[in-house]
Amino acid sequence: MADYLISGGTCYVPDDGLTAQQLFSCGDGLTYNDFLILPGYIDFTADEVDLTSALTKKITLKTPMVSSPMDTVSEANMAIAMALTGGIGFIHHNCTPEFQANEVRKVKKYEQGFITDPVVLSPKHRVGDVFEAKARHGFCGIPITHNGKMGSKLVGIISSRDIDFLKEEERDLLLSEIMTKREDLVVAPGGVTLKEANEILQRSKKGKLPIVNEEDELVAIIARTDLKKNRDYPLASKDAKKQLLCGAAIGTHEDDKYRLDLLAQAGVDAIVLDSSQGNSIFQINMIKYIKDKYPELQVIGGNVVTAAQAKNLIDAGVDALRVGMGSGSICITQEAAPKIPPDLKSHSPKCSSTVMGNYMLACGRPQATAVYKVSEYARRFGIPVIADGGIQSVGHIAKALALGASTVMMGSLLAATSEAPGEYFFSDGIRLKKYRGMGSLDAMDKNLGSQNRYFSETDKIKVAQGVSGAIQDKGSIHKFIPYLIAGIQHSCQDIGSKSLTQLRAMMYSGELKFEKRTMSAQVEGGVHGLHSYEKRLF
Ligand code: IMP
Repeated sequence: MADYLISGGTCYVPDDGLTAQQLFSCGDGLTYNDFLILPGYIDFTADEVDLTSALTKKITLKTPMVSSPMDTVSEANMAIAMALTGGIGFIHHNCTPEFQANEVRKVKKYEQGFITDPVVLSPKHRVGDVFEAKARHGFCGIPITHNGKMGSKLVGIISSRDIDFLKEEERDLLLSEIMTKREDLVVAPGGVTLKEANEILQRSKKGKLPIVNEEDELVAIIARTDLKKNRDYPLASKDAKKQLLCGAAIGTHEDDKYRLDLLAQAGVDAIVLDSSQGNSIFQINMIKYIKDKYPELQVIGGNVVTAAQAKNLIDAGVDALRVGMGSGSICITQEAAPKIPPDLKSHSPKCSSTVMGNYMLACGRPQATAVYKVSEYARRFGIPVIADGGIQSVGHIAKALALGASTVMMGSLLAATSEAPGEYFFSDGIRLKKYRGMGSLDAMDKNLGSQNRYFSETDKIKVAQGVSGAIQDKGSIHKFIPYLIAGIQHSCQDIGSKSLTQLRAMMYSGELKFEKRTMSAQVEGGVHGLHSYEKRLF
């Protein structure tokens, strides 16, 4: 019993609602819509709520949101926007390894601290070479060294102001004739800290600051555009080199090892093993292989929905778990299985982790129960959980986090934003973008990574586990994620927790109270009794 002071006297308030343990001990599988969180006491403002949370053992995010590795959700543009707003994006693998690695490279190069491998030219290069570099890389603040390479004597710099008014017929001019010369450059000495270098750059009012060693050889540069991005995105997720964090998905087949190598070379920070049923010998072997070859690379295993599944992946060495099976908006994994020809198994002699997915129809778990059960087990080993799939609103995100997840992974909620891959199209006057399950026949027709999630290459019959559809235009991630952040902060404020760490502690101590929602409670909780209304969220 909790006691509260009421007008000078002490009055006992009876316990109300269910603890998470009580809520999930009834045996029924619950979805996010099946329960509510009871409000607590507010003594702080919503914007004080700290949403810092772990993605993996070694990566912490300021925004607990990640984008799904799906080909209609996450390529470089999405991953850049997610990382800038404090989350992280996982580049899908329904593409060639080279394409995927290049998308990761774009994210890693988007913003940097010390740039140690910039484009460099020599005084003997010509204006045409600068035009080409500008077309290819989108910038033209290029340092000029004696031999056109890093580590050689700095002799000048070419900035847009040097070439702005040059005409096409001046393409052949030597850079030595037009560059800003070494004696007019502001430089910083090698060994300078990033903070000091940034201050020198700010004061210099130049676009780039070359860093030189004692022999006046170029060792790095820093860029003003990166300084501005730093200022504009205070929540951005970055590594030690101040590059944006980026994740990517791979499968568990032999040829995924080549994909892994390319991704590692591109600087990927976290690898998610993309499987609809992750508890397999194939995934366990892959986790061990990655941890052995790239010990620093964070490995996310999954998908799992039970503690028993989670145990095997934790024992194998995962740094985080992805939880969810059958809850995705495009998913038909839990629906009844079609008749499987009796000899189908013999069609798949080379069983793989993903072939199991074939027979997984009718398998899965309602997402709220899955998140609670796996999180409750994984926390004993310090393994964070990503609640993957079924997130339709801010309320669902808050519930997933209140059940023990550290982050949420979203597909449909982020699809149809301007940063998602694909073009907008109109249908009945509504602006839409395509969104499809990676287990849809449509996605698997590409015959690349996506079908690895659901099939073995030896399968003769494909059973779709996802659908293909369209979603209405949501505008930019740069407006949508701040709306979601503010929404989660308001939920935490109503609950009375000032941080996600506190939220989870309240849940496990039993202080956080839940209540089941009947069907009529769900109707009452929605808009009702209006003739018509407009639903604008932000
Ligand atoms: P959503 O956020 O509810 O749209 O769910 C996205 C999640 O669904 C992804 O992160 C995957 O875990 C899962 N998923 C993606 N494609 C498929 C599919 O074809 N079938 C089943 N689940 C899928």
